[in-house]
Amino acid sequence: MIKSLRGTKDILPDDISTWQYIEAAGRDIFNIYGYKEIRTPIIEEAGLFIRSIGDATDIVQKEMYVFSDSVGRNIALRPEATASIVRAYIENSLFQAGGVTKLFYIGPMFRSERPQQGRQRQFYQTGLEAIGSDNPFIDVEVIALAAKFLERLGIKKFHIKLNSLGCQKDKIRVIEKHKESFKPHFEKLCETCKARFDKNVLRIFDCKEDSCKVVAENVKAESALCSECAEHFEKVKAGLDAISIQYTVDNKIVRGLDYYTKTVFEITQESLGAKDAICAGGRYNNLVKEMGGKDTPAIGFAFGMERLILALIGVAGHKSQVLGLDVFVAVTGEALYNEAFKLLNSLRMAGISSEIDYDAKSLKAQMRKAEKLGARFVVILGEEEFKSNKVVLKDMEKHNQEEIQLDKLIAELSSRPGLVLGSTTKGGK
Ligand code: ATP
Ligand code: MG
Repeated sequence: MIKSLRGTKDILPDDISTWQYIEAAGRDIFNIYGYKEIRTPIIEEAGLFIRSIGDATDIVQKEMYVFSDSVGRNIALRPEATASIVRAYIENSLFQAGGVTKLFYIGPMFRSERPQQGRQRQFYQTGLEAIGSDNPFIDVEVIALAAKFLERLGIKKFHIKLNSLGCQKDKIRVIEKHKESFKPHFEKLCETCKARFDKNVLRIFDCKEDSCKVVAENVKAESALCSECAEHFEKVKAGLDAISIQYTVDNKIVRGLDYYTKTVFEITQESLGAKDAICAGGRYNNLVKEMGGKDTPAIGFAFGMERLILALIGVAGHKSQVLGLDVFVAVTGEALYNEAFKLLNSLRMAGISSEIDYDAKSLKAQMRKAEKLGARFVVILGEEEFKSNKVVLKDMEKHNQEEIQLDKLIAELSSRPGLVLGSTTKGGK
């Protein structure tokens, strides 16, 4: 039997409500802050990510799914969304609207890394990008929004770690400083980090090898910001303080992707263990220009949805709910199936969620099925009652039943509180 690929997961109906809950909470809060949803393709030219994320990063070197299509185009399954959104921003001239373009997304990303708890090869991210301003209040807005999203989900114990890498010039200085600090410990680094030392020294801080973690913990990490970038960072911190968003400044938060400049941040949730990063983000003031657009500063973040779900269940005690059923139509004899099916159709057209048992079974078996499906009401079509156009309406919650005129059934049901779908799609045609 063919099984799902390692590192991919089916999200089954029993769990879907948790996903929908997170998606709805995200959409709500993103809209409140003025962000509009964008959906970009899952496949892109591989060069888009190589150029933006950087060819010395793990994502590009080891994790990206790249293949040639039938005419030899180099195609990648997107490992993240920022590069695609910047491409879409330029390609569709979204800048023409002026001001800050605020976009959010929800969707699958792909990275070929070793699967483990909180780490998959197809995983989901929800995130946003604010393109068009270097104003520190945008940084504050974006970070605050990430925090408010978590609070809305009931995930309270999270930790925001904040840093500034400065502008491109500062970043070069930061890189040189870090090289100096790592140099005496070079021999203790893993082979990958030895290679990173020259190509992407910042990435050493993200290494998961114990030996490298010890080195990274012990090296000093000084900030090396020019006065303009230092002032920008001060304003970001003051803005966060002004609206009581808690954070700690951590010079070792460097985010290894090439495109980051100035503000970078990470949000962790300790209950998640080793994979405790639920959100990562930062400014990328040069990316739009590097991708062929105008010089346009921008900032964004991405949440890992699998990790959000782990936190939601672990910390906020969230339980997934299976959507119940309004009405189960039970039939006492084969002869009435036609009528039952007609009734089922009318109920559904009235926006009342309803089910029937297609295998003719005893009334007792049908009642068991109704219970299993969590039906709020059972409508029983019995031969005797049906002769006078009546059915039995059984209230499964109140444990009572009454005879009711068939043509009054829908009006009666619609007037009862607590219908699952009846409340949201009533009157749907
Ligand atoms: P990590 O340090 O965990 O590898 P990362 O630096 O690769 O994370 P980003 O590229 O910044 O992560 O992605 C943002 C968020 O997406 C992460 O904080 C995490 O929650 C989530 N994420 C990243 N890779 C995976 C994955 N393979 N499976 C599940 N979630 C992931
Ligand atoms: Mg990673």
